[in-house]
Amino acid sequence: MQNLPFDKPGRFFKGNLHTHSTRSDGGLSPGEVVAAYRARGYDFLSLTDHFLEKYDFPIVDTTAYREDQFTTILGAELHGPTLENGDPWHILAVGLPLDFPPPAPDETGPAIASRAAAAGAFVGIAHPAWYSLSLDDALTLADAHAVEIYNTGCDREIDRGDSWHLTDVLLGRGKRLFAYATDDAHFGERPDAFGGWVQVRAERLDPGDILAALKAGHFYSSQGPELRDIRATGGELHVACSPAAAIHLTGRGSLRRSQHGDALEGAILPLAPFRGGPCRVTVIDSAGKRAWSNPIWLD
Ligand SMILES: [Zn+2]
Ligand SMILES: [Zn+2]
Repeated sequence: MQNLPFDKPGRFFKGNLHTHSTRSDGGLSPGEVVAAYRARGYDFLSLTDHFLEKYDFPIVDTTAYREDQFTTILGAELHGPTLENGDPWHILAVGLPLDFPPPAPDETGPAIASRAAAAGAFVGIAHPAWYSLSLDDALTLADAHAVEIYNTGCDREIDRGDSWHLTDVLLGRGKRLFAYATDDAHFGERPDAFGGWVQVRAERLDPGDILAALKAGHFYSSQGPELRDIRATGGELHVACSPAAAIHLTGRGSLRRSQHGDALEGAILPLAPFRGGPCRVTVIDSAGKRAWSNPIWLD
């Protein structure tokens, strides 16, 4: 349970990892985007405009918006040739240096992802369901840290927000990938902000500490419910959460154990069936909002 956040020192900080501004195809300026998230109680934001020539390869310098109670992490959404369906790659990179070099025209998605990881970024496989990213494609992205399992913008735009299926298949292939929810907000014609976020465990609200916690998997994802604790004791998984209608533990293939009820604030689920592969927790509240743990490796 090394990668879970709950027994780590510090507290949870709420953040959005994937956001656009007028520096690419978003509707609000960087300052307006930051103000919107700060006003909603977020602790940090990564502005990740499209790193494309037509936008002059933006890595927006948001350091001026850092305060005692709010911070930013520099990032971008990277692109390059090409998925097996012909689309260009979309790759999230959170924690890039300002001088991250633009790609050569033929630099592939997996190559620029590797370069971003080497430069220190947390690299995410962005919205796989939105553009039918295949398993073969995903397996070529060797240096990703995580998969974007929920994307508010893709959900509201075209009902392709949920990418858990591909993530579970990758986990079944032995890939060690974390899972994050995010908005991909553009603040355009439809509401696409404040629908999915990460809660990152760190001792300080410091961009470096948050980035290290992301790479270590010390976070969970949510659309609303809180995960308060997940720990293994005596062969059982103890989950504590905000009031929920269902608490699920899922694993390899169709392996599953669940508790359903009215305002459940926790569950105790057997771990023995899940030995030999990762498992994960989903909490669903009475309004249908979900919170997801990272994959749990029991070794
Ligand atoms: Zn994208
Ligand atoms: Zn995006």
